Amino acid sequence: MKRIAILGATGSIGTQALEVAAAHDDLEVVALAARSDADGLVAAARATGAAFLALEDASAAERLDVTVRSGPDALVRLIEDAQPDLVLNAVVGAAGLEASLATLERGIDLALANKESLVAGGDLVLAAARTSGAAILPVDSEHSALLQCLGDTPRDQLASLVITASGGPFRGRTRDELAGITVEQALAHPTWAMGAKITIDSATLMNKGLEVIEAHMLFGLPYDRIEVVVHPQSIVHGMARLRDGALIAHLGHPDMRVPISYALTYPRRETLDARPLAWDAPFSLDFEPVDLATFGCLRLAMEAGEAGGTAPAVLNAANEEAVAAFLAGRIGFPEIEALVADALGHVAVEPLASLDVVRAADAAARARVAEAIA
Ligand code: NAD
Ligand code: MG
Repeated sequence: MKRIAILGATGSIGTQALEVAAAHDDLEVVALAARSDADGLVAAARATGAAFLALEDASAAERLDVTVRSGPDALVRLIEDAQPDLVLNAVVGAAGLEASLATLERGIDLALANKESLVAGGDLVLAAARTSGAAILPVDSEHSALLQCLGDTPRDQLASLVITASGGPFRGRTRDELAGITVEQALAHPTWAMGAKITIDSATLMNKGLEVIEAHMLFGLPYDRIEVVVHPQSIVHGMARLRDGALIAHLGHPDMRVPISYALTYPRRETLDARPLAWDAPFSLDFEPVDLATFGCLRLAMEAGEAGGTAPAVLNAANEEAVAAFLAGRIGFPEIEALVADALGHVAVEPLASLDVVRAADAAARARVAEAIA
């Protein structure tokens, strides 16, 4: 029996993970955490029998008559108390970084959906895994695909990694055509149903930028060997380009339960009722170059990745604030990119020496965005 903790249990990834765990006999959900959805957390606890619970929001926790850890260090205390074999981090945003570190530092394997952990604090996260020997198992569909495409290929035989992007709802538009976009339009993703923040990131292509940094961290390749290609059907999730010209791809209908299941049961594979790709009707796969001139967030992310240090933490925090402001109707869609560029231009980049350095960069970027909006 593998005892698992699900952080972000009430979200899009979290609820799909609960479904996967219920379908696999050898997974036992022992701990659950969310931000403020007390009812959702209690319902998940009843369904799984999980005894260890946490809510970041203390006032939401107070309303419950069961024991719930709460407050800013609730996730870390939850991991300490529950001692799971594996933690699924499906929290959204840099708020998930400390839980990733706490998991790996205790030698617990980490199934990682929270890509912002690796973007904001990548070197710290990798160092924690190296020191304890715990594994980081990607849940992001592209990175799960890449892990599987790579198999045991020696790194010197790998030429590059290819990440696919659906292109989001505004694929094919020009920069000028991004001006009047509404929140509803930006939330209408063509192929994936996800939480609001990542859906907006998919519309700006910031999500692909965060994923390029995530791939750099997970697979240790330089940025010039990580390719991005637009693939509107989201059927090919990732590819490994080998030095003899072979391109190994991972295919499947878009369904996050597939990479979630692989990360939760790794290194085994369990049966899942995912819809198979079928050959009874014609279908085709399209690929097109990515438009970096229109979707500047992807370019900014690649530049921040290359710059290293705290630049990706600044990029990420500025983006979180800008996306929240866009979702609240306070700024227009093109301003997301403008605010991130502004923060990167104003917050000094430092070496990523400690968690405190990351926190300071994160706070400075958020303050800069708030100032720019006001
Ligand atoms: P979501 O908004 O649907 O859910 C987020 C979850 O995190 C909720 O349960 C919320 O309560 C919890 N949460 C937020 N802040 C918290 C805090 N401070 N402390 C504790 N819990 C907190 O988001 P999502 O779409 O499920 O995405 C989660 C993560 O997975 C993101 O990093 C995202 O980039 C990544 N991801 C998501 C998908 C997808 O299909 N949804 C695909 C790939 C990667
Ligand atoms: Mg992804």
